[in-house]
Amino acid sequence: MHIAFALAAALAIAVVVGRKVQKDRRRLLWDRAAGHRREHPLPVDSYTDIDELVRNARCHCGDKLWKRSESGLDQGLHVVVTECDTCEKVRKLYFDASGVPQ
Ligand SMILES: [Zn+2]
Repeated sequence: MHIAFALAAALAIAVVVGRKVQKDRRRLLWDRAAGHRREHPLPVDSYTDIDELVRNARCHCGDKLWKRSESGLDQGLHVVVTECDTCEKVRKLYFDASGVPQ
């Protein structure tokens, strides 16, 4: 009986640790992708491209992001603040719109 309990506890711990490792990995991949950090904005040719990219953007949990607000920053940098439908995390997407004709 004690062995069954120990195995069940070890399995539960392995599941929790496995989920944490997966979550950390997804977050790391998210942070490395273009457009997810101010220092590494995603270049765009038009503001329509920004709308389309935001519509197709996914949170690191896998669900869709929806646009809360957007604004232009200095030197053509454009930031869109989004929120995930599932985990409700607020994520910023950065775009380099310096090549967009005014
Ligand atoms: Zn999410």
